[in-house]
Amino acid sequence: MVKKQNGTVLCQICGKQKSASVSVRGELVRPSLVNTIVKSHPDWSPDGYICFTDLNRFRGQYVKEILEEEKGELTSIDREVIKSLTEHDLLSRDTTREYEEQLTFGEKTADKVAEFAGSWSFIAFATGIIIIWLMVNLFIVFLRWDPYPFILLNLVLSCIAALQAPIIIMSQNRQAERDRIRAQEDYKVNLKAELEIRHLSDKIDHILTKQWDRMMDIQQIQMELMEEIAQKTPKEKKEVPQKNGNQIS
Ligand SMILES: [Zn+2]
Repeated sequence: MVKKQNGTVLCQICGKQKSASVSVRGELVRPSLVNTIVKSHPDWSPDGYICFTDLNRFRGQYVKEILEEEKGELTSIDREVIKSLTEHDLLSRDTTREYEEQLTFGEKTADKVAEFAGSWSFIAFATGIIIIWLMVNLFIVFLRWDPYPFILLNLVLSCIAALQAPIIIMSQNRQAERDRIRAQEDYKVNLKAELEIRHLSDKIDHILTKQWDRMMDIQQIQMELMEEIAQKTPKEKKEVPQKNGNQIS
C-alpha cells in the first residue's frame, strides 16, 4: 500500500514520506504533465503519490518544453517566467518607480529642463525676454547694451539652442529606455498569464473527465444495487404503503 495510516504518503519521485496535504494522487495529474514525468521516471504509477515540490519542478520543465517547442531558443526573459511559474512568485512590478529611483541628479535635472523647454511657458518666457531686449536696445538710448543688429542677442540664443538640443535628446533616450523596460515587463506578465490559463484549462478538462468517469461508475453500482433489491423483495414493497396508510388515519 502506498498510503500510510498516519496521514503521510510516499512520494514516488523523491521517495520521501510527505504529508498527504502537500501531495497529490498520480491519477489527478494531467496527462500532458504525466508524459513529462514518465520521461525521467518510467515507473510512474497513477495509484501512487507525488509531492508538490516535485510536481512544481515537473511543471516548470513541462512549460520549458512547450516554450522551446513553440519558440525555439529560450531568452533570459522566458527563463525568468518559468522560474516564477515554478516558485509561484509574483512577476508584476512597478518598473516606472524602480527606474526613477535609480536616476542620477544630472539625469533628473535633464528631465526637468527638457520638460520646461517643451512647454508653452518656456515659449512665453523666451518671447517676453526677446521683446524686452529689442525694445530696450531700440528705444531706451541710455540703457542700450546691444545696438541693432543685436549681435549679443544672437549669440545668447545660439548658446541656449546649442545646450538645449543635447539635453532634450538625453531625456528622449531615457524615455525610450523606460518604454523598452515597460514593454519587457508587460511581455513577461502576458506570457505567464497565458501559460497559467492554459494550465488551468487543461486541469479543469482533466478533472471534469475524471469526475465524469467516477460518476458513471457510481451510477452503475447504484443501478446494480437497485436491481438486486427489486429482485429480492417484491412482496415487502407492496405491504409498506398499506401499513403507512393505517398509521395516518
Ligand atoms: Zn517528492
